[in-house]
Amino acid sequence: MMESAWPVTYSIDSSDHLTQVNEAFTAFADDNEGGTLSPDQVVGRLLWDFLTDETTKSLYRDMVQRVRRRSMPVRFKFRCDAPDLKRLLAMEIDRGEGDTVQFTITSVLEERVLSAARSAIRMSESGALLTICGWCKRVPLASGEWGEIEEAVDELGLFHSGSTLQLSHGMCPMCYDAVMGMIDDPEVGASGTVTLGGLGAT
Ligand SMILES: [Zn+2]
Repeated sequence: MMESAWPVTYSIDSSDHLTQVNEAFTAFADDNEGGTLSPDQVVGRLLWDFLTDETTKSLYRDMVQRVRRRSMPVRFKFRCDAPDLKRLLAMEIDRGEGDTVQFTITSVLEERVLSAARSAIRMSESGALLTICGWCKRVPLASGEWGEIEEAVDELGLFHSGSTLQLSHGMCPMCYDAVMGMIDDPEVGASGTVTLGGLGAT
């Protein structure tokens, strides 16, 4: 697993095509997608091609539109884990020249996890289907609450080597409300106070 250098930066033109990505972006995208991307393969592509979840795509579009229209940045923290790392990142979306928009991602907190549950499970095309929130990395529990993946693994009895999980990316109601709050109220969006999923006991 490659460690991303920080910050990760990328920008889009007025029609949402990527105009610039830094080296860290490609490492970051590799971390998340498992593929290998070079800046050449990324620049010129539509930003939205890199987002698979429709709800997430639509909310990012709204945030970008808000940034362009109000010339106020949107700042929030979100979870982006690696297999052995819980990681809280900070996103800043700000307006550049014209209708360009600049994205900057920095690392806020990282916590090594030597979790038996995490290392035992393997993500695959088959196995128990779990929806994971792409923003806070929580998954739905039997109680109806959303919790850390270890809790769900315990619940499902997957705590043994070789178990597989099929993860589908979605968005939990808490993150949806928090992001909608930032879109509805640009002051909240610019304040940087919104955190989607913390580290530790959340
Ligand atoms: Zn969430």
